[in-house]
Amino acid sequence: MNNTEVVAEVDVVVIGAGQAGLSSAYHLRRTGFEPDRDFVVLDHSPGPGGAWQFRWASLTYGKVHGMHALPGMELTGADPERASSEVIAEYFDTYERTFDLRVRRPVDVRAVREGPDGRLLVETSAGTWSTRALINATGTWDRPFWPRYPGQETFRGRQLHTAQYPGPEEFAGKRVVVVGGGASGTQHLLEIARYAAATTWVTRRPPVFREGPFSEDVGRAAVALVEERVRQGLPPKSVVSVTGLPLNDAIRQGLADGVLDRQPMFDRITPDGVEWRDGRRSRHVAADVILWATGFRAAIDHLAPLRLREPGGGIRVDGTRAVADPRIHLVGYGPSASTIGANRAGRAAVRDIRRLLTEEPVAA
Ligand SMILES: Cc1cc2nc3c(=O)[nH]c(=O)nc-3n(C[C@H](O)[C@H](O)[C@H](O)COP(=O)(O)OP(=O)(O)OC[C@H]3O[C@@H](n4cnc5c(N)ncnc54)[C@H](O)[C@@H]3O)c2cc1C
Repeated sequence: MNNTEVVAEVDVVVIGAGQAGLSSAYHLRRTGFEPDRDFVVLDHSPGPGGAWQFRWASLTYGKVHGMHALPGMELTGADPERASSEVIAEYFDTYERTFDLRVRRPVDVRAVREGPDGRLLVETSAGTWSTRALINATGTWDRPFWPRYPGQETFRGRQLHTAQYPGPEEFAGKRVVVVGGGASGTQHLLEIARYAAATTWVTRRPPVFREGPFSEDVGRAAVALVEERVRQGLPPKSVVSVTGLPLNDAIRQGLADGVLDRQPMFDRITPDGVEWRDGRRSRHVAADVILWATGFRAAIDHLAPLRLREPGGGIRVDGTRAVADPRIHLVGYGPSASTIGANRAGRAAVRDIRRLLTEEPVAA
C-alpha cells in the first residue's frame, strides 16, 4: 500500500495502546464513539501490554506496587511471582476484547501533519488516517535517554540502558557501574549485586528517600510540580522523579549492605572504567559494564511537523490539551505519566474532544 493513501476518515485517532491509550479508547467507547467508524487505536508493538510487554522478567507483578487497573475492569488474582510483562499483557488483551477496542497493530505512526479542511493526517506504516482530533498516548519507552560523558566512545566494555536490561544473571562475575538515582537504578543494583563481582552506583544528585507511606498528598504535590512544568512548555519530569524513592525494606537492606552506597557522577569514561577528577587527583573504578538507568523522554517525534514544541523543548499543555492546537491531546504525558494519571487523563481528553467535535463542526 502507498503509505500516503488515506485509509479512512475518523473523528479520533488514538496513538498508543498502553494504559493511556486504552483508558482513552474505553472512554471514547463509553461515550458513544464506535471503533473503526469513529475512532481507531494504532500501536506499533507486536502485542497487547503497552511498554509492560518489554519489561524484564525479574520485574515480577509483586514488585510493581503502584499499578492501577484500567477503568471498568479490575485486575484480580494475579500471581505476584509472575513477570509483570506477562500479567499485564494478558490483562490488557482481555480488556481490549471485553470492550471491543479493536487495536490495530503493528501500526507505526511516523508523522502527524496538518491536512485539508481542518483535519489532521496521521501517516503510518499501514497508510494514512484523516482525523478531526488526536489522542497521543505514546509513552516514553521508545525514547530511552542516554546522557553523554567524555570518553564514552572509548569504553571497551558493554553499555546498555534500562530499556535493554536483561535481568541480573547476565552480570554474573562482572564489575558493573549503574548510573541513575531513580526506581529502576536502585532495583537493578539490588538485583545485580547478588551476581556481580562488584557494583558501583553513581547519580547526579544525592538520592532523596521518602519515609512513610506514599500518601495522596505526596502524590498530588508531585503531580502539581510536573503539571506546572508542562504548562510552561518545559519538558516534563517523571512523576517518580519528584516523589523521591520509597524507603522500603529492600532499599533499607541495600543501604545497610553498602549496595546503595551512592557516589557522585564520574567525570569521564575510560576504556576500562570510570574516573573522577578533583584538581590534580583522580580516582578510577574498573568496569566491565555501564548500565544507564537514566530514564526516558516523551516519544513525540512524530508530532514534529505540527511544530508544537516550545523554545523550552516541551509541548505546552493545559490539562491534556495542547495549548497551541485544541485538536491534540497528550495523555500519559508529564503529570499523567503514571497508571492512575493516565486513567484520569484519558477521561478528561475524551470529554474535551467531545465538546470540541460537537461545538465546532469542521468546515466541509
Ligand atoms: C520499569 C518501570 C516500572 C513502572 N512501574 C510503574 C508502577 O508501578 N506504577 C505506575 O503507575 N507506573 C509505573 N511506571 C510508569 C508506567 O509505565 C506508566 O505510568 C504507564 O504504564 C505508561 O502508560 P502509557 O500508556 O503512557 O505508555 P506505554 O505503556 O509506553 O504505551 C505506549 C504505547 O504507544 C506505542 N507507541 C509509541 N510510539 C508509537 C508510534 N510512533 N506509533 C504507534 N505506536 C506507538 C507503544 O507501542 C506502546 O504500546 C513504570 C515505568 C517503568 C519504566
